[in-house]
Amino acid sequence: MEIYNDLSKQKEEFRPITPGEVKMYVCGPTVYNLIHIGNARPMIFFDTVRRYFEYRGYRVRFVSNFTDIDDKIIQKANEEGVDASVISERYIAECRKDMETLNVRTATVHPQATQEIQGMIDMIQSLVDKGFAYAAADGTVYYRTRKFPEYGKLSHRNVDDLRSGARTLLVTGEDQKEDPLDFVLWKPKKEGEPYWTSPWCDGRPGWHIECSVMSKRYLGDTMDIHGGGEDLIFPHHENEIAQSEASNGAEFARYWMHNAFLNIDNHKMSKSAGNFFTVRDITSQYDPNVVRYFMLTVHYRSPLNFSRELMESAKTSYERICNCAANLAYLEERAAGTDAGAEGRTARTAAEAASLFAPAAGMSEAETGLLSEADAFRVRFEKVMDDDFNTADAISTVFDLVRWINIHADENSSLPFLTALHSALLTFADILGIRIEKENEADDTLASYVESKIAERQAARKARDFALADAIRDELRDRGIFLEDTKDGVKWKKA
Ligand code: AMP
Ligand code: ZN
Repeated sequence: MEIYNDLSKQKEEFRPITPGEVKMYVCGPTVYNLIHIGNARPMIFFDTVRRYFEYRGYRVRFVSNFTDIDDKIIQKANEEGVDASVISERYIAECRKDMETLNVRTATVHPQATQEIQGMIDMIQSLVDKGFAYAAADGTVYYRTRKFPEYGKLSHRNVDDLRSGARTLLVTGEDQKEDPLDFVLWKPKKEGEPYWTSPWCDGRPGWHIECSVMSKRYLGDTMDIHGGGEDLIFPHHENEIAQSEASNGAEFARYWMHNAFLNIDNHKMSKSAGNFFTVRDITSQYDPNVVRYFMLTVHYRSPLNFSRELMESAKTSYERICNCAANLAYLEERAAGTDAGAEGRTARTAAEAASLFAPAAGMSEAETGLLSEADAFRVRFEKVMDDDFNTADAISTVFDLVRWINIHADENSSLPFLTALHSALLTFADILGIRIEKENEADDTLASYVESKIAERQAARKARDFALADAIRDELRDRGIFLEDTKDGVKWKKA
């Protein structure tokens, strides 16, 4: 597998620190509001990365934090006259709901900054002891940026260029810094703010230190992959590297992956300009699977433009995949003569996936040949995902497989042939985190509804009430159900 590493600005072969295991950390949201659809991009993308590693047979330790102490949280708490923790706990709960809606799996650990303060004090102390940090007269602790020679290695910036930029950015209180480039590790409390006691002053941690500390606690000194949106490269991730590498004396993260931004109608998302959507808004208007499908149609390192038009087209494409799966389920049930056809189909890992396309008992020779042809879709899917998680090409591969299935699977197909194709489709959809099957219950409800309508129509025909028979057929057609009169009786198909 190859990953584009922002450190080297090129694709590199992925080599895990521990064979068979991936340790990854993704910066999570600051919880003072419902998350917006921009925040959903890293959530969905890195969840897909995790799912693909698992498909490839890796065990994944996935850590993603909630920043639950921050100026915006405190401001909102003061406005509502409640504790900051009331606000953060409320929006953590809301964020978890949105994640579940979007089929984003819960991380191995979701640490929260306020529960890891002692670890932060310890790391800051170690930086002070090693000369990488100093306390100013008012108790603020700063990181001595110039002392870390590799500062700028991720954002590919030169410290001297940064310095001339930073000088013009001086704000009040910053004159106590030794150097304008130094950044805050710990800051004194202000009136009405939550605080913790530390060796330097009563106060709270800066933002960057939380990720250094929480990733170390749950993943160790060195992790495989660190991810987040591209806005975090500088200064957040640059500062995380400076803190962790100076304190631990070890490389912090081997691969750095950043998603590009999501824009709306080609503009930056902005509340004041009115182009701002929460995940809650959008998932009430669109099937969450369509949202997830849409997010993955563009490679993660390219900007993604959100528009109604693109969402509509994602919806149509997604539905074609669902219809293919529903049609396979229908054919399987017919072939089995019962609904036992549903038994064998499940998502598989890569090690098992190849066998889906292998000959099996009960298939005709022609089907065996067809399946080996269809195996090219699996090979292509893996190839594009191995190439820096190209979900855009992975989706078009699934789409081509759907087209192929629509041509080659029909009433004459054997059950093992149909089930193999169905499992392949489910496997790929599962890696993308897209649900393509309504719950069985919904399927059953649909089937029994259609069967009862067909019976009504047959009765109408028998009574020579052709107007009613046609009306029933039209009603079904409006719901995407097509009837076909054959010598074996009436068959139906979902479009
Ligand atoms: P924040 O709560 O602003 O720290 O953001 C949480 C995560 O969402 C970070 O990884 C950000 O980089 C990411 N993010 C924020 N806005 C966008 C956007 N418009 N497009 C893509 N990612 C974003
Ligand atoms: Zn972070």
